[in-house]
Amino acid sequence: MRAMVLKKLCRLEENPTPLAFTILPEPVPLENEILIKVSACGVCHTELDEIEGRTSPSHLPVVLGHQVVGTVAGQGSKTNVYKPGDRVGVAWIASACGSCTFCLSGNENLCPDFKATGRDVNGGYAEYITIAEAFAHPIPDAFSDSEAAPLLCAGAVGYRSLKLTNLADGQNLGLTGFGASAHLVLKMVTHQYPNAKVFVFARSADERTFAKELGAYWAGDPEERSPEYVDSIIDTTPVWKTVVEALKNLKPGGRLVINAIRKEESDKESLLQLHYPDHLWMEKEIKSVANVARSDVREFLELAAEIPIKPEIQEFRLEEANQALVELKERKIRGAKVLKIA
Ligand SMILES: [Zn+2]
Ligand SMILES: [Zn+2]
Repeated sequence: MRAMVLKKLCRLEENPTPLAFTILPEPVPLENEILIKVSACGVCHTELDEIEGRTSPSHLPVVLGHQVVGTVAGQGSKTNVYKPGDRVGVAWIASACGSCTFCLSGNENLCPDFKATGRDVNGGYAEYITIAEAFAHPIPDAFSDSEAAPLLCAGAVGYRSLKLTNLADGQNLGLTGFGASAHLVLKMVTHQYPNAKVFVFARSADERTFAKELGAYWAGDPEERSPEYVDSIIDTTPVWKTVVEALKNLKPGGRLVINAIRKEESDKESLLQLHYPDHLWMEKEIKSVANVARSDVREFLELAAEIPIKPEIQEFRLEEANQALVELKERKIRGAKVLKIA
């Protein structure tokens, strides 16, 4: 099968073609697994974190990609949920142990044995992928394959972030950064909490205009104070400065949720600007969002179909994966990037 393979970690500035086009043997499903013929795979910022070593793959070479949509093309002897031809998706969660306290309490995203698709097992930058049947998700009919792909990560983790804010209708929510995940969160909030006001902090004027078109109450630069204090904020930026800036806009008891698998080190000295009375005093708290549970993926897909949420997408061929990654790194973003594979 055709695949784009990561063989060696590197910095994208030094090597703009980190993935090599490779012919690999078609994977064979184990007894509890299905074989999926991949139709579309989303390109995520986390792939940059993997390639550049901020969250390194557990083995190399590896096939990246954790927003996978395709059809069932084969199955192991102990599978019984899906049949050949069914359309399914695979998200960041490839497996969890199922027996630890986290798994048993519905927090399988925190399992010490959490395995990530496209990092710990081969992902969807390829024509075929295998996955345990229990970790594949049905895709609602409302979406095309390419539309569904970015929902599997940006949408699902955005959904989890929003849950962690404990936002109630009528409260104020801040969004720091306005990429794929934040714009899906804004669409969810306007649907689920029609009386909530959303304040968007984004560096680019285009992103601020886009946020207001989508229903944001206010949009400004991350260094500005919002016109009202906010109950909670979701930060989706890769840097630290915005975290410090965001804290000063929180109400007493407010919560900042950081939705980023890793922060870059380049501006870490910004943390020295942290001023305890303005930024943390009055029971303000900071929490990260880690991975996703299967329930996040499935609940979000159903909600997205109901609203409906249709992400803006930009398609690339499988062989153009490096180009898509470089554009993502350079923030050339015109919709979510998706590899169209079949
Ligand atoms: Zn992702
Ligand atoms: Zn577990």
